[in-house]
Amino acid sequence: MDADDILALGLGVTAPWRLVSQRLETTTQPHQLQLEVAADRGALFPCPTCGKPCKAHDFAEFTWRHLNFFQHHCDITAKVPRTDCPQDGVLRIKVPWAREGSRFTLLFEQAALMLVREMPVAAAARIIGVTDQRLWRIVEHYVTQAVGRIDLSWLNAIGLDETAAKRGQTYVTVFIDLAAKDKPVVFVTPGRGKETVARFEAFLGEHGGRPERIAEVVCDMSGAFLAAVGETFDQAAVTVDWFHVVQLFTKAVDDVRRAEAKETKLPKALRWAILKRADGRLTHAQADALAELETSGLLTAIAWRIKEMLRWIRKADGVQAARWRVTHFLRHANQLLADDPILTPVRKALSSFENHLERILQRWTSTHSNARLEGLNGLFQAARARARGYRNTTTFAIMIYLIAAPLGDLFQST
Ligand SMILES: [Zn+2]
Repeated sequence: MDADDILALGLGVTAPWRLVSQRLETTTQPHQLQLEVAADRGALFPCPTCGKPCKAHDFAEFTWRHLNFFQHHCDITAKVPRTDCPQDGVLRIKVPWAREGSRFTLLFEQAALMLVREMPVAAAARIIGVTDQRLWRIVEHYVTQAVGRIDLSWLNAIGLDETAAKRGQTYVTVFIDLAAKDKPVVFVTPGRGKETVARFEAFLGEHGGRPERIAEVVCDMSGAFLAAVGETFDQAAVTVDWFHVVQLFTKAVDDVRRAEAKETKLPKALRWAILKRADGRLTHAQADALAELETSGLLTAIAWRIKEMLRWIRKADGVQAARWRVTHFLRHANQLLADDPILTPVRKALSSFENHLERILQRWTSTHSNARLEGLNGLFQAARARARGYRNTTTFAIMIYLIAAPLGDLFQST
Protein backbone atom coordinates (compact mmCIF):
# COMPACT_ATOMS: atom_id res chain seq x y z
CA MET A 1 0.00 0.00 0.00
CA ASP A 2 1.50 3.34 -0.98
CA ALA A 3 0.63 6.91 0.03
CA ASP A 4 -1.92 7.20 -2.78
CA ASP A 5 -3.79 4.14 -1.52
CA ILE A 6 -3.92 5.50 2.02
CA LEU A 7 -5.33 8.84 0.87
CA ALA A 8 -7.81 7.06 -1.39
CA LEU A 9 -9.10 5.02 1.56
CA GLY A 10 -9.82 8.18 3.55
CA LEU A 11 -11.60 9.66 0.57
CA GLY A 12 -14.18 6.94 -0.01
CA VAL A 13 -12.91 6.37 -3.55
CA THR A 14 -13.89 2.97 -4.95
CA ALA A 15 -13.22 1.18 -8.26
CA PRO A 16 -13.12 2.10 -11.09
CA TRP A 17 -11.96 5.35 -9.46
CA ARG A 18 -8.48 5.70 -8.01
CA LEU A 19 -6.19 8.43 -6.82
CA VAL A 20 -3.73 9.22 -9.57
CA SER A 21 -1.83 12.21 -8.24
CA GLN A 22 -1.28 14.35 -5.15
CA ARG A 23 0.43 17.68 -4.92
CA LEU A 24 0.90 20.22 -2.14
CA GLU A 25 0.29 23.70 -3.50
CA THR A 26 2.51 25.99 -1.41
CA THR A 27 1.87 29.24 -3.29
CA THR A 28 -1.57 29.61 -1.66
CA GLN A 29 -2.34 30.48 1.96
CA PRO A 30 -3.32 28.17 3.59
CA HIS A 31 -1.43 25.60 1.52
CA GLN A 32 -3.58 23.23 -0.48
CA LEU A 33 -3.30 19.53 -0.93
CA GLN A 34 -4.60 18.78 -4.41
CA LEU A 35 -5.70 15.28 -5.14
CA GLU A 36 -6.61 14.03 -8.56
CA VAL A 37 -8.93 11.10 -9.00
CA ALA A 38 -9.47 9.28 -12.29
CA ALA A 39 -11.15 6.14 -13.54
CA ASP A 40 -9.28 3.33 -15.27
CA ARG A 41 -9.10 3.77 -18.99
CA GLY A 42 -12.02 2.10 -20.75
CA ALA A 43 -13.97 1.61 -17.50
CA LEU A 44 -17.76 1.26 -17.68
CA PHE A 45 -20.00 3.45 -15.51
CA PRO A 46 -23.56 2.75 -14.37
CA CYS A 47 -26.19 4.84 -16.12
CA PRO A 48 -27.64 7.18 -13.42
CA THR A 49 -31.18 6.25 -14.46
CA CYS A 50 -31.23 2.49 -15.12
CA GLY A 51 -27.86 1.43 -13.63
CA LYS A 52 -26.76 -0.46 -16.72
CA PRO A 53 -22.93 -0.32 -17.27
CA CYS A 54 -22.22 2.09 -20.11
CA LYS A 55 -19.26 3.53 -21.93
CA ALA A 56 -18.22 7.11 -21.25
CA HIS A 57 -19.51 9.58 -23.81
CA ASP A 58 -17.33 12.52 -22.71
CA PHE A 59 -15.75 13.99 -19.56
CA ALA A 60 -15.84 17.29 -17.67
CA GLU A 61 -13.62 18.30 -14.75
CA PHE A 62 -15.08 19.04 -11.31
CA THR A 63 -13.54 20.05 -7.99
CA TRP A 64 -14.71 19.17 -4.47
CA ARG A 65 -13.57 20.53 -1.17
CA HIS A 66 -12.41 17.65 1.06
CA LEU A 67 -11.47 17.35 4.76
CA ASN A 68 -8.45 19.36 5.76
CA PHE A 69 -5.22 17.38 5.64
CA PHE A 70 -3.64 18.55 8.92
CA GLN A 71 -3.61 22.35 8.54
CA HIS A 72 -3.89 22.28 4.74
CA HIS A 73 -7.09 22.66 2.79
CA CYS A 74 -7.66 19.74 0.47
CA ASP A 75 -9.32 19.73 -2.95
CA ILE A 76 -10.18 16.81 -5.16
CA THR A 77 -10.48 17.10 -8.88
CA ALA A 78 -11.82 14.45 -11.24
CA LYS A 79 -12.93 14.22 -14.82
CA VAL A 80 -16.47 12.93 -14.50
CA PRO A 81 -18.00 11.16 -17.49
CA ARG A 82 -21.42 11.30 -19.05
CA THR A 83 -22.69 7.84 -19.88
CA ASP A 84 -24.20 7.06 -23.24
CA CYS A 85 -27.07 4.73 -22.42
CA PRO A 86 -29.03 3.28 -25.37
CA GLN A 87 -32.20 3.67 -23.31
CA ASP A 88 -31.74 6.89 -21.30
CA GLY A 89 -29.33 8.88 -23.44
CA VAL A 90 -26.33 10.96 -22.37
CA LEU A 91 -26.27 11.67 -18.60
CA ARG A 92 -23.68 12.87 -16.06
CA ILE A 93 -22.94 10.10 -13.55
CA LYS A 94 -22.92 10.41 -9.75
CA VAL A 95 -19.56 10.06 -8.03
CA PRO A 96 -19.29 7.90 -4.89
CA TRP A 97 -17.56 10.55 -2.74
CA ALA A 98 -20.06 13.42 -3.06
CA ARG A 99 -23.79 13.94 -3.33
CA GLU A 100 -25.22 15.31 -6.52
CA GLY A 101 -24.77 19.06 -6.94
CA SER A 102 -22.50 19.46 -3.92
CA ARG A 103 -19.02 20.91 -4.21
CA PHE A 104 -18.00 19.16 -0.96
CA THR A 105 -17.14 15.51 -0.37
CA LEU A 106 -19.48 13.45 1.82
CA LEU A 107 -16.77 13.15 4.47
CA PHE A 108 -16.37 16.90 4.54
CA GLU A 109 -20.11 17.38 4.96
CA GLN A 110 -20.25 14.76 7.68
CA ALA A 111 -17.46 16.46 9.63
CA ALA A 112 -19.11 19.85 9.15
CA LEU A 113 -22.42 18.57 10.56
CA MET A 114 -20.68 17.00 13.55
CA LEU A 115 -19.22 20.39 14.40
CA VAL A 116 -22.51 22.20 13.85
CA ARG A 117 -24.21 19.84 16.32
CA GLU A 118 -21.77 21.02 18.99
CA MET A 119 -21.12 24.71 18.34
CA PRO A 120 -22.41 27.86 16.65
CA VAL A 121 -22.39 27.68 12.85
CA ALA A 122 -20.15 30.75 12.58
CA ALA A 123 -17.52 29.04 14.78
CA ALA A 124 -17.75 25.76 12.86
CA ALA A 125 -17.38 27.67 9.58
CA ARG A 126 -14.18 29.29 10.86
CA ILE A 127 -12.71 25.96 11.94
CA ILE A 128 -13.29 24.18 8.64
CA GLY A 129 -12.54 27.27 6.55
CA VAL A 130 -15.74 27.81 4.57
CA THR A 131 -18.12 30.77 4.56
CA ASP A 132 -21.15 30.75 6.88
CA GLN A 133 -23.47 30.72 3.88
CA ARG A 134 -21.97 27.59 2.37
CA LEU A 135 -22.04 25.78 5.68
CA TRP A 136 -25.67 26.79 6.23
CA ARG A 137 -26.56 25.36 2.83
CA ILE A 138 -25.05 21.98 3.79
CA VAL A 139 -26.85 21.97 7.14
CA GLU A 140 -30.13 23.00 5.54
CA HIS A 141 -29.89 20.20 2.99
CA TYR A 142 -29.38 17.40 5.51
CA VAL A 143 -31.82 18.74 8.10
CA THR A 144 -34.54 19.22 5.47
CA GLN A 145 -34.05 15.64 4.24
CA ALA A 146 -34.20 14.29 7.78
CA VAL A 147 -37.29 16.34 8.66
CA GLY A 148 -38.92 14.84 5.57
CA ARG A 149 -38.48 11.38 7.14
CA ILE A 150 -40.08 12.21 10.52
CA ASP A 151 -42.87 9.72 11.21
CA LEU A 152 -45.94 11.14 12.97
CA SER A 153 -48.29 8.17 12.58
CA TRP A 154 -48.32 7.62 16.39
CA LEU A 155 -48.69 11.27 17.36
CA ASN A 156 -51.63 11.94 19.68
CA ALA A 157 -50.62 14.79 21.99
CA ILE A 158 -49.00 18.04 20.96
CA GLY A 159 -47.85 21.27 22.50
CA LEU A 160 -47.23 24.46 20.58
CA ASP A 161 -45.50 27.68 21.38
CA GLU A 162 -44.18 30.69 19.51
CA THR A 163 -40.88 32.48 19.87
CA ALA A 164 -39.05 35.31 18.14
CA ALA A 165 -36.06 34.53 15.92
CA LYS A 166 -34.92 38.06 16.66
CA ARG A 167 -36.10 40.20 19.53
CA GLY A 168 -39.62 41.39 18.89
CA GLN A 169 -39.86 40.28 15.27
CA THR A 170 -39.88 37.34 12.84
CA TYR A 171 -41.65 34.69 14.87
CA VAL A 172 -41.61 30.94 14.49
CA THR A 173 -44.13 28.50 15.95
CA VAL A 174 -42.84 25.21 17.29
CA PHE A 175 -44.91 22.04 17.65
CA ILE A 176 -43.79 19.33 20.04
CA ASP A 177 -44.77 15.77 20.82
CA LEU A 178 -45.91 15.80 24.45
CA ALA A 179 -45.07 12.12 24.86
CA ALA A 180 -41.44 12.45 23.74
CA LYS A 181 -38.93 12.35 26.58
CA ASP A 182 -36.21 14.02 24.55
CA LYS A 183 -36.05 15.42 20.99
CA PRO A 184 -39.71 16.51 21.23
CA VAL A 185 -39.82 18.95 18.29
CA VAL A 186 -41.82 17.67 15.32
CA PHE A 187 -42.53 20.84 13.33
CA VAL A 188 -41.22 24.39 13.10
CA THR A 189 -42.80 27.02 10.87
CA PRO A 190 -42.48 30.79 10.37
CA GLY A 191 -45.16 33.09 11.79
CA ARG A 192 -47.55 32.72 14.68
CA GLY A 193 -51.25 32.14 14.94
CA LYS A 194 -53.84 30.52 12.78
CA GLU A 195 -51.90 29.82 9.57
CA THR A 196 -49.21 27.91 11.48
CA VAL A 197 -51.83 25.43 12.72
CA ALA A 198 -53.04 24.90 9.14
CA ARG A 199 -49.45 24.25 8.01
CA PHE A 200 -48.95 21.77 10.81
CA GLU A 201 -52.13 19.94 9.80
CA ALA A 202 -50.75 19.57 6.24
CA PHE A 203 -47.35 18.42 7.57
CA LEU A 204 -49.05 15.92 9.87
CA GLY A 205 -50.92 14.44 6.91
CA GLU A 206 -47.75 14.12 4.83
CA HIS A 207 -46.02 12.29 7.69
CA GLY A 208 -48.57 9.60 8.38
CA GLY A 209 -50.47 11.40 11.13
CA ARG A 210 -54.17 12.22 11.42
CA PRO A 211 -55.76 15.30 13.04
CA GLU A 212 -58.54 13.20 14.57
CA ARG A 213 -55.96 11.13 16.46
CA ILE A 214 -54.77 14.20 18.37
CA ALA A 215 -56.38 13.83 21.79
CA GLU A 216 -54.57 16.61 23.60
CA VAL A 217 -53.19 20.04 22.73
CA VAL A 218 -51.29 22.29 25.12
CA CYS A 219 -50.78 25.94 24.17
CA ASP A 220 -50.93 29.51 25.39
CA MET A 221 -53.92 31.84 25.65
CA SER A 222 -53.61 33.43 22.21
CA GLY A 223 -57.07 33.67 20.74
CA ALA A 224 -55.90 32.93 17.19
CA PHE A 225 -54.18 29.70 18.28
CA LEU A 226 -57.12 28.53 20.32
CA ALA A 227 -59.66 29.09 17.55
CA ALA A 228 -57.51 27.31 14.95
CA VAL A 229 -56.66 24.45 17.30
CA GLY A 230 -60.32 23.95 18.16
CA GLU A 231 -61.30 23.75 14.47
CA THR A 232 -58.41 21.53 13.35
CA PHE A 233 -58.25 19.09 16.25
CA ASP A 234 -61.88 18.79 17.21
CA GLN A 235 -61.28 15.59 19.21
CA ALA A 236 -58.62 17.20 21.39
CA ALA A 237 -58.80 18.44 24.95
CA VAL A 238 -57.11 21.83 24.95
CA THR A 239 -54.98 22.81 27.93
CA VAL A 240 -53.59 26.29 28.55
CA ASP A 241 -50.28 25.56 30.20
CA TRP A 242 -49.42 27.00 33.57
CA PHE A 243 -46.20 28.55 32.34
CA HIS A 244 -48.16 30.97 30.17
CA VAL A 245 -50.52 31.80 33.04
CA VAL A 246 -47.56 32.79 35.22
CA GLN A 247 -46.04 34.69 32.30
CA LEU A 248 -49.28 36.65 31.84
CA PHE A 249 -49.31 37.79 35.47
CA THR A 250 -45.57 38.43 35.60
CA LYS A 251 -45.92 40.78 32.68
CA ALA A 252 -48.88 42.50 34.36
CA VAL A 253 -46.81 43.06 37.54
CA ASP A 254 -43.99 44.50 35.45
CA ASP A 255 -46.37 46.81 33.58
CA VAL A 256 -47.72 48.08 36.90
CA ARG A 257 -44.19 48.58 38.22
CA ARG A 258 -43.23 50.56 35.13
CA ALA A 259 -46.29 52.81 35.36
CA GLU A 260 -45.83 53.36 39.07
CA ALA A 261 -42.12 54.11 38.68
CA LYS A 262 -43.07 57.21 36.74
CA GLU A 263 -44.75 58.60 39.89
CA THR A 264 -42.83 57.04 42.77
CA LYS A 265 -39.18 56.13 43.27
CA LEU A 266 -38.87 52.30 43.33
CA PRO A 267 -35.74 50.30 44.19
CA LYS A 268 -33.71 49.55 41.05
CA ALA A 269 -33.31 45.88 41.89
CA LEU A 270 -37.08 45.43 41.91
CA ARG A 271 -37.37 45.03 38.16
CA TRP A 272 -35.30 41.85 37.93
CA ALA A 273 -36.57 40.54 41.25
CA ILE A 274 -40.09 40.58 39.78
CA LEU A 275 -39.13 39.10 36.43
CA LYS A 276 -37.09 36.23 37.88
CA ARG A 277 -38.75 32.86 38.15
CA ALA A 278 -40.35 32.26 41.51
CA ASP A 279 -37.68 29.70 42.40
CA GLY A 280 -34.84 31.65 40.77
CA ARG A 281 -31.91 32.80 42.86
CA LEU A 282 -32.13 36.44 43.91
CA THR A 283 -29.19 38.72 44.60
CA HIS A 284 -29.12 40.41 48.02
CA ALA A 285 -30.30 43.67 46.49
CA GLN A 286 -33.18 41.88 44.74
CA ALA A 287 -34.20 40.02 47.89
CA ASP A 288 -34.15 43.27 49.86
CA ALA A 289 -36.22 45.00 47.19
CA LEU A 290 -38.81 42.21 47.35
CA ALA A 291 -38.94 42.26 51.15
CA GLU A 292 -39.45 46.01 51.02
CA LEU A 293 -42.14 45.58 48.41
CA GLU A 294 -44.06 43.06 50.46
CA THR A 295 -44.44 45.47 53.37
CA SER A 296 -45.04 48.56 51.25
CA GLY A 297 -48.31 50.16 50.27
CA LEU A 298 -47.27 50.35 46.61
CA LEU A 299 -49.62 49.35 43.83
CA THR A 300 -46.80 47.15 42.50
CA ALA A 301 -46.99 45.28 45.79
CA ILE A 302 -50.69 44.57 45.25
CA ALA A 303 -50.00 43.26 41.74
CA TRP A 304 -47.14 41.14 43.10
CA ARG A 305 -49.25 39.61 45.89
CA ILE A 306 -51.93 38.64 43.39
CA LYS A 307 -49.35 37.00 41.15
CA GLU A 308 -47.80 35.14 44.07
CA MET A 309 -51.16 33.52 44.87
CA LEU A 310 -50.79 31.55 41.64
CA ARG A 311 -48.25 29.34 43.39
CA TRP A 312 -50.81 28.38 45.97
CA ILE A 313 -53.30 27.46 43.25
CA ARG A 314 -50.75 25.36 41.40
CA LYS A 315 -50.09 23.24 44.46
CA ALA A 316 -53.69 22.02 44.49
CA ASP A 317 -53.66 18.23 44.22
CA GLY A 318 -56.75 17.80 42.09
CA VAL A 319 -59.08 19.64 39.79
CA GLN A 320 -61.71 20.19 42.49
CA ALA A 321 -59.21 21.61 44.93
CA ALA A 322 -57.84 23.79 42.16
CA ARG A 323 -61.29 25.11 41.29
CA TRP A 324 -61.92 25.94 44.95
CA ARG A 325 -58.60 27.76 45.21
CA VAL A 326 -59.30 29.70 42.01
CA THR A 327 -62.62 30.93 43.43
CA HIS A 328 -60.82 32.23 46.51
CA PHE A 329 -58.04 33.68 44.40
CA LEU A 330 -60.45 35.67 42.25
CA ARG A 331 -62.41 36.94 45.24
CA HIS A 332 -59.26 37.90 47.13
CA ALA A 333 -57.63 39.51 44.08
CA ASN A 334 -60.70 41.64 43.45
CA GLN A 335 -60.67 42.78 47.08
CA LEU A 336 -56.99 43.71 46.84
CA LEU A 337 -57.36 45.60 43.58
CA ALA A 338 -57.65 49.30 44.33
CA ASP A 339 -59.53 51.45 41.88
CA ASP A 340 -56.36 52.91 40.38
CA PRO A 341 -55.83 52.91 36.58
CA ILE A 342 -52.22 51.86 37.15
CA LEU A 343 -53.57 48.42 38.10
CA THR A 344 -55.39 47.96 34.78
CA PRO A 345 -52.87 45.36 33.50
CA VAL A 346 -53.71 43.11 36.48
CA ARG A 347 -57.42 43.52 35.86
CA LYS A 348 -56.88 42.45 32.26
CA ALA A 349 -54.80 39.47 33.31
CA LEU A 350 -57.50 38.39 35.73
CA SER A 351 -60.12 38.67 33.03
CA SER A 352 -58.06 36.50 30.61
CA PHE A 353 -57.56 34.03 33.43
CA GLU A 354 -61.31 33.79 34.00
CA ASN A 355 -62.03 33.50 30.28
CA HIS A 356 -59.64 30.57 29.91
CA LEU A 357 -60.35 29.01 33.27
CA GLU A 358 -61.64 25.66 31.99
CA ARG A 359 -58.61 25.21 29.74
CA ILE A 360 -56.31 26.22 32.56
CA LEU A 361 -57.94 23.74 34.95
CA GLN A 362 -57.52 21.06 32.31
CA ARG A 363 -53.89 20.70 33.45
CA TRP A 364 -55.13 18.85 36.53
CA THR A 365 -56.79 16.20 34.35
CA SER A 366 -54.15 16.09 31.61
CA THR A 367 -52.07 12.94 31.36
CA HIS A 368 -49.03 14.83 30.08
CA SER A 369 -46.58 16.97 31.94
CA ASN A 370 -47.31 20.60 31.38
CA ALA A 371 -43.76 21.64 32.08
CA ARG A 372 -42.88 20.78 28.48
CA LEU A 373 -43.56 24.18 26.96
CA GLU A 374 -41.59 25.85 29.73
CA GLY A 375 -38.63 23.62 28.89
CA LEU A 376 -38.71 24.91 25.33
CA ASN A 377 -37.34 28.26 26.43
CA GLY A 378 -33.90 26.82 27.08
CA LEU A 379 -33.98 25.17 23.66
CA PHE A 380 -34.92 28.44 21.94
CA GLN A 381 -32.03 30.19 23.65
CA ALA A 382 -29.57 27.53 22.56
CA ALA A 383 -30.85 27.67 18.96
CA ARG A 384 -30.56 31.44 18.92
CA ALA A 385 -26.95 31.23 20.08
CA ARG A 386 -26.04 28.58 17.50
CA ALA A 387 -27.53 30.64 14.66
CA ARG A 388 -25.97 33.88 15.87
CA GLY A 389 -24.81 36.30 13.20
CA TYR A 390 -26.91 34.63 10.54
CA ARG A 391 -30.34 34.40 12.06
CA ASN A 392 -33.64 34.48 10.23
CA THR A 393 -36.70 32.26 10.50
CA THR A 394 -35.15 29.61 8.23
CA THR A 395 -31.80 29.26 9.98
CA PHE A 396 -33.49 29.49 13.38
CA ALA A 397 -35.91 26.71 12.44
CA ILE A 398 -33.07 24.52 11.11
CA MET A 399 -31.19 24.93 14.35
CA ILE A 400 -34.25 24.08 16.49
CA TYR A 401 -34.72 20.91 14.44
CA LEU A 402 -31.03 20.04 14.67
CA ILE A 403 -30.97 20.40 18.44
CA ALA A 404 -34.36 18.99 19.39
CA ALA A 405 -36.10 17.01 16.60
CA PRO A 406 -35.93 13.20 16.22
CA LEU A 407 -33.85 13.42 13.03
CA GLY A 408 -32.09 10.08 13.41
CA ASP A 409 -29.09 9.57 11.16
CA LEU A 410 -28.68 12.70 9.08
CA PHE A 411 -26.76 10.71 6.47
CA GLN A 412 -29.38 8.06 5.75
CA SER A 413 -30.44 8.25 2.01
CA THR A 414 -27.46 10.20 0.64
ZN1 LIG B 1 -29.90 3.90 -18.66
